[in-house]
Amino acid sequence: MKNPGIKLLDENGKRLDGRGLKELRPITIKAGVLDRADGSCYLEWGGNKVLAGVYGPREVIPRHLADPLKARVVYRYNLAPFSVDERARPGPSRRSIEISKVSREALEKAIFLEEFPKTQIDVYVEVLEAEAGTRCAALTAASVALADAGIPMRDLVTACAAGKIEGKIALDLMKEEDNYGEADFPIAIMPRTKEIVLMQMDGNFTREELTEALETAINGAMQVYELQKKALKERYKIEGE
Ligand code: ADP
Repeated sequence: MKNPGIKLLDENGKRLDGRGLKELRPITIKAGVLDRADGSCYLEWGGNKVLAGVYGPREVIPRHLADPLKARVVYRYNLAPFSVDERARPGPSRRSIEISKVSREALEKAIFLEEFPKTQIDVYVEVLEAEAGTRCAALTAASVALADAGIPMRDLVTACAAGKIEGKIALDLMKEEDNYGEADFPIAIMPRTKEIVLMQMDGNFTREELTEALETAINGAMQVYELQKKALKERYKIEGE
């Protein structure tokens, strides 16, 4: 996070893409975009484009991996080779394995796993285009895809990051801010209770900044939650209503 003299805020406090400090990038969410998967979601968030597909609950193969008490969740985050400026190496990386693990753990908190013992729920998320914040975009799309698949959940999971640029707490960092800012702080919550199900941090904050960043990220997630619900309502809208 070294800044080689790049100004991330102008004299009016506006960011490189014209946003204010506490503004999200534009987000569009569409549920039910794939015919073959049980549930799906396409999401654009700033320059990120992600596609999530869900299968299940289904039989676990190999069977010895089945849990007699609850469903097993598989989450695969994949950065497509063409999603970044210089071709990303195809296949899993340390980064994608870590993102998959923490995202799976976040969704496990929301899904009523005990209702589906000995089964598996597969969540696949393809990042088609990446521009910082892909783990949040992927997880947000994944929870809409799970809802679209009719999987019972306590609540949706909604992710959003806050960060620090030029000493100021900012919502939803884009690429340059992620590269040259001082901190990035992605979280995921279950919005109805605001229970935190994922929290990571890269960079540094004072205690006061951390409190502000958490509040900023939660406020951002609550806005994203409205868009998730809207996408699901749109999907299941009854003609004429
Ligand atoms: P997140 O996408 O959740 O913010 P990171 O902070 O690890 O996760 O990555 C920030 C951004 O860096 C990504 O969104 C992407 O734009 C870029 N990036 C990540 N991995 C690669 C890669 N292998 N090659 C090029 N760019 C990458």
